[in-house]
Amino acid sequence: MRARRTQFAAVIAAGLLALSACGDAGNSDDAEDTPEVEVEEQDFEAGSRMAELQKDGKVKIGVKFDQPGIGFKTATADAPSGFDPEIGKILAAKLGIKADDIEWVEAVSANREPFLQNGTVDFVIASYSITDDRRKVVGQAGPYYVTGQSLLVAKDDDSINGPDDLKGKKVCSVTGSTSIKTVEEQFGATPAGFDTYSECVRQLENGSVDAVTTDAAILLGYAAENPDKLKVVGEPFSEENYGIGYGKDHPELCEFVNETLTSAFEDGSWEKAFDATLGKGGAEAGDPPALDECA
Ligand code: GLU
Repeated sequence: MRARRTQFAAVIAAGLLALSACGDAGNSDDAEDTPEVEVEEQDFEAGSRMAELQKDGKVKIGVKFDQPGIGFKTATADAPSGFDPEIGKILAAKLGIKADDIEWVEAVSANREPFLQNGTVDFVIASYSITDDRRKVVGQAGPYYVTGQSLLVAKDDDSINGPDDLKGKKVCSVTGSTSIKTVEEQFGATPAGFDTYSECVRQLENGSVDAVTTDAAILLGYAAENPDKLKVVGEPFSEENYGIGYGKDHPELCEFVNETLTSAFEDGSWEKAFDATLGKGGAEAGDPPALDECA
């Protein structure tokens, strides 16, 4: 599965270049131009988590609230916008749950595993890379999207053009993310850890740090919001496979998520979700990624 995925590494860079040209990161709270998702009635095995959620008629999904294009919500908006919430709507619809009956819970990188472990949410769909360490404590199905780690710097900074320029530089990332781990372990940067990437962007804008690092798909959303001051530089230097997190107590959710993603890949709803969010600036969804098999 990993080998099949590496073919996507090549297209990450191309896809992200297209994204970088955009001036609209899909950060509006306007849900009007997002696709309608039809709610389905399926028969689930009695006692399965799917049957329980279907009976409850509601589901709690953890998403980011401060990442334009991926998961974004202002205090006054009813629901978040972005690719991750769109995937959440597709998942809920397969459980017979309408978008209005989804309870959206703000997740930050460090609380995603605890939220799943203690039942604060049923699913996490929050720029959540699949990793072996995370799979020891939670379930992660997918991937439904592949991106790679990159760097956000001030527009007038010519000293940082890739990860090899980070030696001795102060680089902001988020506690509990793969991004902070990679930059700490592989490059000689001085890491500054915060709770959210939007806080990191504030640190960059006020000159407290030299760069922000995380997935390019996230950074491009911030750059698009402030193109006169910020830019994304270099090629992506990791492979991040976004998965859907669920509690380890309910392993049956893995096949359910994979079946849901497979049908979304095939019926065009995955592509529509991408086009209405991350793809708004002209980026192509490309081919859907190959799914990991459930254990
Ligand atoms: N995708 C990476 C992760 O799951 C970085 C983005 C994030 O922190 O949400 O850690």
